[in-house]
Amino acid sequence: MATFSKSDILAALSAVVDSDHDNDVVALDMVQGIVIRDGHVMFSLEVDPERGPALEPLRKTCEAAVYKVPGVLSVTAVLTAHSGQPPKAAETAPKPAQNPAQAPLSLPGIKKIVAVASGKGGVGKSTVAVNLAIALANRGLKVGLLDADIYGPSVPRMMGISEKPKTSADKKLIPHEKYGIKTMSIGYMVDEDTAMIWRGPMVQSALMQMMSDVIWGELDILVVDMPPGTGDAQLTMAQKVPMSGSVIVSTPQEIALADVRRGIAMFEKTHVPVFGIIENMAYFVSPGSGEKTFIFGEGGARRTAKALGVPFLGEIPIHPAIREGLDVGEPITATAPASEEAAPFSAIAEQVAARLATGENERAAPKITIE
Ligand code: ADP
Repeated sequence: MATFSKSDILAALSAVVDSDHDNDVVALDMVQGIVIRDGHVMFSLEVDPERGPALEPLRKTCEAAVYKVPGVLSVTAVLTAHSGQPPKAAETAPKPAQNPAQAPLSLPGIKKIVAVASGKGGVGKSTVAVNLAIALANRGLKVGLLDADIYGPSVPRMMGISEKPKTSADKKLIPHEKYGIKTMSIGYMVDEDTAMIWRGPMVQSALMQMMSDVIWGELDILVVDMPPGTGDAQLTMAQKVPMSGSVIVSTPQEIALADVRRGIAMFEKTHVPVFGIIENMAYFVSPGSGEKTFIFGEGGARRTAKALGVPFLGEIPIHPAIREGLDVGEPITATAPASEEAAPFSAIAEQVAARLATGENERAAPKITIE
């Protein structure tokens, strides 16, 4: 239980003056959407979009003021546009040369960061992220897993973790450790409904905080479970986080593959190498006969990878055991690492580890062929 209330937060903020308007931020009605969750405070500052970047110092002052309230463990303040619409990507896109505050994050203890992305939800992105992270740890690597799928964080359920993370003396978050990996998810701190109502800039700010305010320690690889899709949150993430590469998860259908193309284009724009495409739910193996049924058509992701000049990292069949394990917080790669079901994840982990080890993270320009 938090020892402070919304009125304590407002009282602290009413001492912060917006010098352009000669009044404090509470009186100016700028403070919106205060969320308090077990000592963690989040709110937005509604501002004229024109003033956006110039208000970064004011945003920081507000955070510092709330931080002083006894009992506050962390503060996230974000700037949102008056209209209620998140600023467009072009407006929020980091411009490092002009604004050092928006330069890519520096994460010294983390050697490599790999994004697991998908063009849309429900294709098994989190399934791959969790099992890939554990499969990499099974290879003896020091691995972290960041759940950046802020609109629908499924890592807590899949990892079987429901406790809040502890905080250090300097108010940084200590990641949970389970199955040989460290993990952090917004789902450990807020429930899914709270995450759902956040606006674009709030999401981005929370994501950045989860990258930089977590004591990851020394990591060989941080696996990031990206939000599905290719919108502003994903773009900002790809721009601000120094990623070594990305893998894109898709199901075999053509519709899903159109999204993959968009995903590749997004990473291209942000100069993050695409290590390859993973085809999930590639086929179903009948338990009795062992016969393969290609429910969504055969080989679509492999063909798309070829057409786009991107490596194909492998296919993962539909196995009830994969889903059942994740539903009870027991990923197959942790409970049965040598099993047939875990094998595709191990094979993908091997390729990702090899790609990272060579340091050869640049890929050739994609060859786009029109079909
Ligand atoms: P996303 O992160 O893309 O939204 P999830 O990883 O949450 O997708 O997967 C959606 C659902 O499909 C989950 O219930 C998951 O357990 C299940 N699932 C994903 N991949 C497989 C697979 N290869 N075999 C069986 N079930 C799977």
